[in-house]
Amino acid sequence: MRLLLVEDDVSLSEGLRFGLTRAGFSLDVAHSCEEAEHHWQVNRYDAVVLDLGLPDRDGTEFLRMIRAQEVAAPVLVLSARGNAEDRAALIDAGADDYLLKPFAVEELFARIRALLRRASAWSPPTLHIANLILDRSRLEARVDEEPVHLTIKEWALLELLAVQCGRLVTRSMLLDHCWDGSYDGVSNLVDVHMSRLRKKLEQAGAQVTVRTVRGAGFILETPGQTAVIEDQDPTSSLRSSRFNILPAGLRGSGPS
Ligand code: CA
Repeated sequence: MRLLLVEDDVSLSEGLRFGLTRAGFSLDVAHSCEEAEHHWQVNRYDAVVLDLGLPDRDGTEFLRMIRAQEVAAPVLVLSARGNAEDRAALIDAGADDYLLKPFAVEELFARIRALLRRASAWSPPTLHIANLILDRSRLEARVDEEPVHLTIKEWALLELLAVQCGRLVTRSMLLDHCWDGSYDGVSNLVDVHMSRLRKKLEQAGAQVTVRTVRGAGFILETPGQTAVIEDQDPTSSLRSSRFNILPAGLRGSGPS
């Protein structure tokens, strides 16, 4: 899952970056409305954490811009403004949740997870594919009930492949959802992590395999399963039906 954090307080944003990355999220950080708009135009996000008091403009302006595009990504607002009228105005502007500063980091993480769960009612918290189980609330993979020790990146790759099991997952989908903007787009990071993931699944005796579709991407397959490779770019259906509602042409593609 890829998040956009808009927060001008550098020590807070760096602390959150550290915690959220460890919790398995890919994260881009913006310190102003302008920076947030730039990230928003070039990337796709599963959720946004938005501070209101930003140096150039009020964060509400960014929130209104997102909602004007009819993008469904949930937005959690961080603010020191706590009265009922302020909260009502934010919800009217399209915020999905609200957290008053100062807050406990654990509460922020729990609220982000809850928003993502609600936004992704399409997909259950635990995925069972042959003898592989993915417990998404604990970021834990098991094969025949034995834990498979994955890095955060390997987990993120496997989760996306599992949600799309039997379907093509393109490189751009993997980069959009498993990497942040610091990825240089040139190195073979996806292949390196995918190769390690494959090895770990094989060593654990998983009945699933990750098949490479040359020049396109990867498919998680189970024995006897027929893979579905759609003619159109599967990211388009993924975008509109599962992650964000993105009318064609509204936003650019992710880093590649
Ligand atoms: Ca601020």
